[in-house]
Amino acid sequence: MKTENPDAARRLLVGGLATGLVAAIDGAASAQTPASNATGTIMPLEDPTKKYPRPPFQRQQQEWPGLAGKMNPPPDHGEKTYKGSGRLAGRKALITGGDSGMGRAAAIAYAREGADVAINYFPTEEPDARDVIALMKEAGRKAIAIPGDLRDEAFCQRLVDEAVRGLGGLDIVVSNAGRQQTRQSILDISTEDFDATMKTNIYAPFWIIKAALPHLQPGSVIIGTASEQAYDPSPDLYDYAQTKAATMNYVKSLAKQLAPKGIRVNAVAPGPIWTPLQVSGGATQEKLEKFGGMTSLGRPGQPGELASIYVQLAAADASFATGQVYGSAGGTGQP
Ligand code: NAD
Ligand code: MG
Repeated sequence: MKTENPDAARRLLVGGLATGLVAAIDGAASAQTPASNATGTIMPLEDPTKKYPRPPFQRQQQEWPGLAGKMNPPPDHGEKTYKGSGRLAGRKALITGGDSGMGRAAAIAYAREGADVAINYFPTEEPDARDVIALMKEAGRKAIAIPGDLRDEAFCQRLVDEAVRGLGGLDIVVSNAGRQQTRQSILDISTEDFDATMKTNIYAPFWIIKAALPHLQPGSVIIGTASEQAYDPSPDLYDYAQTKAATMNYVKSLAKQLAPKGIRVNAVAPGPIWTPLQVSGGATQEKLEKFGGMTSLGRPGQPGELASIYVQLAAADASFATGQVYGSAGGTGQP
């Protein structure tokens, strides 16, 4: 290009130099070693649509409350993948329903993040519980098993006492256990049935939190497991869905009540997750076959995909999060 004006020529030269400089800086950046994590490994990109099994699933039915160990395909609770980085070092956690599903994923993650953990589960879930206890011990943490039926107030009180005694205190309470049984019509729900759902999903958290509160110091946290059902209930989950609306609600009420004491209260709201709850009466066989297919990712979530949310809500650096409900539902659902 012919340039008559020397000023313009100088500008062009400088511009060219600047472009060259940018190119050189760019080159330097791409020649840099990519950032790696604490263990020195580079995290590969993972396509969430391809990461886990998609429907159709094999029909399968287990007697309530079911075992993760008998599911096909087996759920992923992060057993092989969750890596801790000391985020919960020194914490003492009680997790209900800690044998399987979201509770197991949280238990494994908490132990690997440095927390000592007590888990509660229904006595027939001993095989699943044993697996979790072994994994938490492998992480070098105290792991306490406290089986029992949460529908019993006296047991809920004993559960907290035993956890406090075994752990030497308590600062994280994860009220995660839940009962879900599909019933096509309200006419199919007996009073006993309705009562069991209310006792497990509403009364047990009430009893456990009441018993735990005197032990919780400022900085402690309470985490509930709500559901997308709280906001968008399915027709066949009349009783269950309303307990999840109640969970969302108590979390927000209690968060306001306990904020002045420095205790945070939050919830996780999962979408369809591949857990024993679904194969032991929680879903119809037709729904199971297509389970999770309606989400934007086209598959159900795995419990391990929610572990980091339970960790985040418990960690001290989430200190401004209280009265919040964190969703994980594959693109559908609320919040
Ligand atoms: P899960 O079956 O693995 O866990 C539920 C646990 O609840 C059981 O393991 C059992 O230990 C416990 N439990 C139930 N009744 C009990 C009782 N009477 N006494 C003692 N323990 C009892 O299934 P999950 O899906 O991981 O369930 C965990 C929570 O997640 C529940 O609150 C559930 O409502 C909620 N949730 C699940 C889904 C899903 O799609 N799986 C979606 C939204 C919310
Ligand atoms: Mg279980």
